[in-house]
Amino acid sequence: MENGITHSLSLSKPLCEVCGYTLSYLDSLQLKDVDYSVCRSFDCRRVMQKKNEMSDWQFKSHLSFQQKLLRDQQEKEASRRKHIVQATSREARENLAIIESIIKDRPDVLEGIQQVVVIPSGLSKLTIPAEERVNKYIEHLKQIIFEASELSDANEIIQDQHYDAHTRQLQLEQKFSKNPSLKSLSDQLCAMCKGGCCISGNEHAYLSVFTIKTLMDTNPHWTVTDILDLYISHISAQSVQNSCINQTENGCALPRNLRSDICNAFYCDPLKSCQKNMIDQKNIGKVIVIQRSNTYSSRFDLDVENKIINATVINIK
Ligand code: SF4
Ligand code: SF4
Ligand SMILES: [Zn+2]
Repeated sequence: MENGITHSLSLSKPLCEVCGYTLSYLDSLQLKDVDYSVCRSFDCRRVMQKKNEMSDWQFKSHLSFQQKLLRDQQEKEASRRKHIVQATSREARENLAIIESIIKDRPDVLEGIQQVVVIPSGLSKLTIPAEERVNKYIEHLKQIIFEASELSDANEIIQDQHYDAHTRQLQLEQKFSKNPSLKSLSDQLCAMCKGGCCISGNEHAYLSVFTIKTLMDTNPHWTVTDILDLYISHISAQSVQNSCINQTENGCALPRNLRSDICNAFYCDPLKSCQKNMIDQKNIGKVIVIQRSNTYSSRFDLDVENKIINATVINIK
């Protein structure tokens, strides 16, 4: 018996001493030269590695504390998953009721309805951006402009999420060029939503060395000062509180060519599935739009009800 808990004479499979999950074959492969059972999770291994560094009683108390933390975290995750399932099914029932009432009030809209899409809402409270935020944004811009100016072209940059977004952006442009009305629909929906996905832009606006280098490559006559001044000139006197510094009451303050590919290529899941459903549809026609109150990232928050705030029919010619 290697230890009292898991390597007993019992025929049952060994369990991880931290999370209690049954060890898989791959888990057991990494258990050489240790006198405990642990799964491959980084957190569980980190806890068990302390076993030989601590006295028995210290380790026992450390293990029991970490197990409690893990249980709390698992309970929180399970309750969030349950909330998402319940909220999704409740919202689906509410959406259906709204659709039925639209059709009952205006039976004419039923004819030619192609799609129903449920969009979130951007935040809307405007504020003068604090000096600290503006300075942080300008520092970010200076840093990425400097780093971009040191490179001979964009291909020298490590292929990270900005590069992937650039590829997605090119694919999107191709998709939209074959079906411009899909682009009109997407633009109209995003205008109604007002940046429900822009919250996390904070003071970086997803702008990266890759964004700047691509801009430099397409505008070789622009100096670093021109580029910095250009971005600074677009900082709005008022921007949406607790969101990206460039989000204003009229949408993004940056023209599309100055935005990052991450911004230009991003569509939330409802829009992506709407685009997928309508990709081959040249005449989009009528679409029922249901708008909910929360932002895209807060749509499943436990303490804020994601209410329906608008339901309408738009017609894309
Ligand atoms: S992509 Fe989705 S969340 Fe973002 S602005 Fe458009 S509708 Fe809103
Ligand atoms: S730069 Fe514009 S599109 Fe990108 S997160 Fe900020 S407001 Fe949204
Ligand atoms: Zn584990």
